[in-house]
Amino acid sequence: MFESMRPIPSLLSAAVILTGLVLVATLVIRAVPRAVVRTGVSTQGGNVVNSVVNKVIPNGPARRRQAALRRIAESGTYVGSMLAAQDSVLRRWPERMNRPLRIYMPRGRDVPGWSDGMDNAVQAAFYRWERVPDVPMRFEFVRDTAGAEVRVRWIREFSGQRTGQADIVWNRDGWIVRGTLTLAVRSPGGHGLSEDAVHTVALHEIGHLLGLGHSNDPGDVMHATTDIRDLTVRDRNSARLLYALEPGNLKGR
Ligand SMILES: [Zn+2]
Repeated sequence: MFESMRPIPSLLSAAVILTGLVLVATLVIRAVPRAVVRTGVSTQGGNVVNSVVNKVIPNGPARRRQAALRRIAESGTYVGSMLAAQDSVLRRWPERMNRPLRIYMPRGRDVPGWSDGMDNAVQAAFYRWERVPDVPMRFEFVRDTAGAEVRVRWIREFSGQRTGQADIVWNRDGWIVRGTLTLAVRSPGGHGLSEDAVHTVALHEIGHLLGLGHSNDPGDVMHATTDIRDLTVRDRNSARLLYALEPGNLKGR
């Protein structure tokens, strides 16, 4: 489990590098006895321009920040522990009810071990998140990369201990602007993943895509190690709370 963030490459030049960071979150899933699948997660990040970002991210009025922090503290969600792990910066997409987030997900026919069922498992995971009340996100699968805001790509397996990875880019106000999900069809040990396992990995990585960090409760999909197959009440409530708050830096000056 490690965290790293790096400046946005290419799209933003050095002059505007202060406006965004990339979060790389990775997920490992591995088989354990009795064919139970467990997930382990590595989140990679590190704030290369941390000191500068803290100056350029506008802090909202202190009273509003404190109200948000109080609400988080009283919520019973994992948004609080998540904030601590990401330098007090909340990140999320703007509401996308009327203009669905455009997802480009090419089929993985050239990846040995890929199946249509895996494709379906990932789409089902997106639609599962869509059904969470008060998370104002809708998804649309598009046929080409033009205009796509999220790309899903399939690989045979990762070289390290992981089976999934989410990369997101956000601006200086904490609004996420694009993302990439990389999903493997085999475990690091070389075993083919079941469609259920791919679904679990996708649920977890889409959580990161939406701006969630890790839960500290092993019973949640967003915990670093879990075999949970569906979003829990805490997963759903954490996402609802995240989308009820303004993104940005909640740390005072
Ligand atoms: Zn993760």
